[in-house]
Amino acid sequence: MQSLDPVRSVQSAWLDERMTDWSTLSDVCGSAEHVPGLLARFEADPSGVSSELVDHLCPQLDTAFTASFAALPRLAEIATAGSREALGWVLLAAGAIAACSPGLSEPDSPLTVFSAPIAVLRDLTDRRLSQTAEAGEYVNLLQALLSFEGVEIWDRCLDGLETGEYEVDCPYCGVDVFVVIGQEDFFCCTEDYALRDVQKSPLQPSRMQELEGLPQRLFTRAMADGQEGFAHGVRYLFGRAACPDCGTDFSVAERVAAG
Ligand SMILES: [Zn+2]
Repeated sequence: MQSLDPVRSVQSAWLDERMTDWSTLSDVCGSAEHVPGLLARFEADPSGVSSELVDHLCPQLDTAFTASFAALPRLAEIATAGSREALGWVLLAAGAIAACSPGLSEPDSPLTVFSAPIAVLRDLTDRRLSQTAEAGEYVNLLQALLSFEGVEIWDRCLDGLETGEYEVDCPYCGVDVFVVIGQEDFFCCTEDYALRDVQKSPLQPSRMQELEGLPQRLFTRAMADGQEGFAHGVRYLFGRAACPDCGTDFSVAERVAAG
């Protein structure tokens, strides 16, 4: 996606918002007529209004409405003009909305229709990522960045690297497998490992020279941002595991994507 002049993008966002007929759009409770007011209150008090904003425009961070996408120009404007604290809330909300968009290959995808404000949000996310040390916020921002770029699946599925666990199913026998990508412990098992000693099957991280495409980009980016633990986890996520029950070897990332 091309970087656009932020000032011009924000000006056009301002125009878009004035031209938007919110009464024809909807959010979670129907008519979106109240959304401009909600956005104004959010701008004045980001931390106080963020959960209300998300409840209306992106409930559970996994459902978006016509008004959610129409709010992206205004969110880009708030992100550009607002405080550092406001920026964090805006990027989280806007990233979740973008993650709900039909992909770039779909006709009239909101990612295409709102490409100018999304480019602004993407660039702000890119900059903030490099300044973020906290692991949870880092993963959220990285997922937001991928959402704005239209990357599917991994804009939602990187958080297991923060929680340290993915739950997948074996492609052969179908048993549920916990894939544990922890700080020091890397294994898979079929039983609850938190409660008792279980049979652990080792994971095979991808070799550095095998990383390519998105996994390579994630690894390189995280290393450059000082997130060594996350980068290390990427090698396991895009590595291989063997089912503890039937021994079938499988790609962890493929099973995560299938789930
Ligand atoms: Zn199996």
